[in-house]
Amino acid sequence: MNDETTFLVLRQTDYKENDLILGGLSPEGQVSFVGKALKKTTSKNAYACQLFSECVIQYDRKPDKDIYLMKTASLVNGHRPLREDLDLQIVASVIAELSLKVQNGTDLFEMTKKAFQELEKKERPFTVLSLYLSDLLKREGNQPMVDACVRCGNTKGIVAFSVEDGGFVCADCAKLKYAKPFETEDLKMIRILVKGSMENLEKIPVEAEKAKFARLLLDHLIYHTGIRLISRNFFDTWYPED
Ligand SMILES: [Zn+2]
Repeated sequence: MNDETTFLVLRQTDYKENDLILGGLSPEGQVSFVGKALKKTTSKNAYACQLFSECVIQYDRKPDKDIYLMKTASLVNGHRPLREDLDLQIVASVIAELSLKVQNGTDLFEMTKKAFQELEKKERPFTVLSLYLSDLLKREGNQPMVDACVRCGNTKGIVAFSVEDGGFVCADCAKLKYAKPFETEDLKMIRILVKGSMENLEKIPVEAEKAKFARLLLDHLIYHTGIRLISRNFFDTWYPED
C-alpha cells in the first residue's frame, strides 16, 4: 500500500549512521518519518527533506503509529529564504519548535505554513512571530488580559505587563509586585498583537515590528504552558533585551 501526505519538515534528528528522523506536520497533525540514508550525498530524497521544506512523502500507513518509514519524498516548496537568512532562520526555528510542542491538532499545518509564507517576504519577521504566538495563545485558551489591570480590574493607568499574572497591570498594582514596565505606545501595540491574528497581518501597525513584543508573548506562553524551547536561547542571544 502506498500512502501519501503533504509534510512540513520542522525537525531533523540524527538516527544511525546515515539516517534522519524527520519531525513535522501533515494536514492531520504532528507526525515523524524515518528517512533512510538521507545523510548520504547520493540520496534522491534529501533535497526535498531540508529543514522548513514542504514536501509530499510516500509511506505505508500503519494503525496506532506516529512514526513511519519514508519511501520517497518530492519537493513542493523549499522555503529556502528561511535557511539562508539568519534572522528568518531564528524566527522560523522558534515557530517550528513551538508547533511540535503545543497540543497536536489538524490546524497546525496551515498555521505554520502560513507563518513560513509570511516570513519569506522578509518584511516583518517579529510581527509574524508575535501573531503566531497570539494565535497559539487563543488556541490554548491562554490569552493575556489586555482590557484592564489583571490584578484589580482597573481600566485606567495601565503601566506594565505581568507575565506571572497574565496581563496588563495598573500603576497602583505595579507598586505591590513586580511587573515589566512599558510605555503607553508599547502597551497599545501589545494589545493589538494579542487581539490580532495572522489572518489580519496587514492591519497590524509597523510599530509592532519589535523583538521585545514577540519575546513578551513567548515569555507568557512558556510561563503558562510549561513548554521548554531550545530555540529560545538563540532568539535571546541574537536579539538581546532592549
Ligand atoms: Zn490594578
